[in-house]
Amino acid sequence: MDKITIRNKKIFKVNKYQQDSINKFIDTLKPESYKELSSCIVCNKRNFLQISDIDGQGIKRPTTLCRECGYFFINPQFTDQTHKNYYENFYRDIDRDFKTPSKDFYELEKYRGIDILNYIYSNKDLNKINSCLDVGCGSGATSFIFAKVFNEVIGIDLAKDYTKNVEKLDNLKIIHTTIQDNTFDNKKFDFINYCHVFEHINDPIKELKRIKEILSPNGYLYIEVPGIHSIDHWYDGNFFHSLEMDHTHFFTLNTLKNLMQQQGFELVFGDEVVRSVWSINTTSKKYSVSNESKNILGQIKKYDNFYRIQYIKIKKNISKNFSKFTKYVLKKIGIFDLIKKLYLKKKNKKFHLINGKIITK
Ligand SMILES: [Zn+2]
Repeated sequence: MDKITIRNKKIFKVNKYQQDSINKFIDTLKPESYKELSSCIVCNKRNFLQISDIDGQGIKRPTTLCRECGYFFINPQFTDQTHKNYYENFYRDIDRDFKTPSKDFYELEKYRGIDILNYIYSNKDLNKINSCLDVGCGSGATSFIFAKVFNEVIGIDLAKDYTKNVEKLDNLKIIHTTIQDNTFDNKKFDFINYCHVFEHINDPIKELKRIKEILSPNGYLYIEVPGIHSIDHWYDGNFFHSLEMDHTHFFTLNTLKNLMQQQGFELVFGDEVVRSVWSINTTSKKYSVSNESKNILGQIKKYDNFYRIQYIKIKKNISKNFSKFTKYVLKKIGIFDLIKKLYLKKKNKKFHLINGKIITK
């Protein structure tokens, strides 16, 4: 297979606890823990270019780009069983270095729920949402926020200890399972959330087929993934660090659209962050696969530049410190809450979280 070489391969730093967990997981791996894809799951062709043989943590996880459509994925992948073992027993320790999130972390994660609500309701013509399934709900903070807005919410996650701190609500249920579980047979949801979860899924086609069974005919599927065109935002411009151990595929809005259309979904709206809202395609409209591989390769080459990575890092640090300083000054002179309210009003956002309470405009 043809290869390109990534020059800036500085490995992600992890602490000792995380490294021990990585080592324990690696010890469980055997040749039969992997499966190899012989053709692209989106366009069915085999015209592959290997981008990197290791991931951002230095683990042997080759990433491959399909030159016929731009689908970008890990190959060989883990088998479903290896993948499940990873998420049940290792992922949370490696990802965040704790088994149970702190109260502060949980409170911070609520903003994710608020951001999703503001994004989906930025389109005013959505059908009414009553029931919601929050897949890979993690700390459960987003499920909690959704339960404040929707009538019925189920959050699911494989890591048991991670959901210990979820606040209790009558209309919120947390289950330690995956959507393949028969708990969901005969159940339909108006809204299914995959916020930074879909890129972790082992078999996206199997997942999308199942989503189609449990999504209401007029329902919406929200998918948010770290977009290849937004590496500056998600990974400080460092492409190599975007090759996270936990991610099995990497998308632009277009390459995600190729996969979604093949599985009978249509884009309601979306952007390159990537945040996207999908519905079930009820027409027999023909779709065509668009090829974004050249564009993606161009992006990778642009990102793989030592000086650019340093520049983005410094730029982000300055802007972070500047907003910290501004917040400090505004608090000191007592006008922080007022300025925040004016800012949110100007941004025209429907949902706000002020002192832990959801305010609906
Ligand atoms: Zn392809």
